[in-house]
Amino acid sequence: MSGSTAIPRSYRRPGAWAIAVLALATAGAVAYSFRAKHAATRQAPIQRIDVHVHVAPMLAPDAVRLFRENGIVVALNASGGAPEQGLEQSERIARDTGGHLLFWCNLGLNLLDEEDFDEYARATLETCKREGAVGLKIYKALGLGIRDDTGTLVPVDDPRLDVVFENAGRLGLPVLIHSGDPQAFFQPINPSNERWDELQAHPGWAFYGEYAPGKPWPSWETVFEQFEHRVARHPHTTFLGAHFCNAPEEPARVAHMLQRYPNLYCDTAARVPEIGRKDTKTMHDLFVRFADRILYGSDTGVTPDGLTLGSRGEEHDPPSRVHAFFDLQWRYFETDARHLASPTPIQGHWTINGIDLPREVLEKLYHQNAERVLHVRIPTPPPSPPTSRTNP
Ligand SMILES: [Zn+2]
Repeated sequence: MSGSTAIPRSYRRPGAWAIAVLALATAGAVAYSFRAKHAATRQAPIQRIDVHVHVAPMLAPDAVRLFRENGIVVALNASGGAPEQGLEQSERIARDTGGHLLFWCNLGLNLLDEEDFDEYARATLETCKREGAVGLKIYKALGLGIRDDTGTLVPVDDPRLDVVFENAGRLGLPVLIHSGDPQAFFQPINPSNERWDELQAHPGWAFYGEYAPGKPWPSWETVFEQFEHRVARHPHTTFLGAHFCNAPEEPARVAHMLQRYPNLYCDTAARVPEIGRKDTKTMHDLFVRFADRILYGSDTGVTPDGLTLGSRGEEHDPPSRVHAFFDLQWRYFETDARHLASPTPIQGHWTINGIDLPREVLEKLYHQNAERVLHVRIPTPPPSPPTSRTNP
């Protein structure tokens, strides 16, 4: 199933909608009512902001074009760099692209044992703010990579890092935070692991066993609890939990977190395959209930080595897959289609089912929440819409 990425032509060409509706009228009343409903209510394209991408600076113009061709008017680069380590270049790119490629800034959490870390953190965040960063990106290395002077992993809720999150809040810089990883990465690595393909391509993504002699990896549960402590400890800091708040396997848990912490938001980056296999009513209702709290992100990577469409195998993804990658996500959010191919098949061998969100929820998911929470402005005049393919 995972190789089946063919898209019906009616989705590629908005002009074909009328024909599709006519054809379906004879094919079945149910199908007709579905198409008619969508044709009637979704004529005006919804502008999309992608809050989570990774773009190498030299490929910024190509990336902007790629996003635009796939219905995304503004993208936020989570690899925006730290001061004197790429941040200034990201600021130039934001200007040169007319505001179509904005950036998150990064900070050296591995410096936490330095004597002047507090000062470094404050100064870095102030520079990020001054340079126009949307916010601060925290990589999964916090919790699963960075070690302190004793060689021990630094947990997500380490108090030595409070200064970072408190100052981000003080400066009004939201924090995009990736903590943990798919639950399967914490399970025994063998062919019965549902992410076996992905783990074989990326052995370094496995967090099972020990990371150093006598030091076991934390469990998924432990890292998630650390993430929750972090969000709870800084009520005046806005957190955007990457990858469906780091718990796409457990929508009920995400709902509980959103209910409990008003400073928490979620992005969808690289997790449509996971949430797409959940019960559709559960997911539909969750997106509706928390319509103001979930932001669209894709985790698209555009680097000199190649493309990464959510995740990838040993090879980078071919440009020929880009359209299907985005289109399958639009179909997940916007239609009730069943048994769609996974946008990122390397993540597992299953299909996904669309959750058919109402237009007002899509507006929030695709751009209004990013405008309100991240203060992103869609440049005006908007770019001319692509001639084909997007915004059915
Ligand atoms: Zn990412």
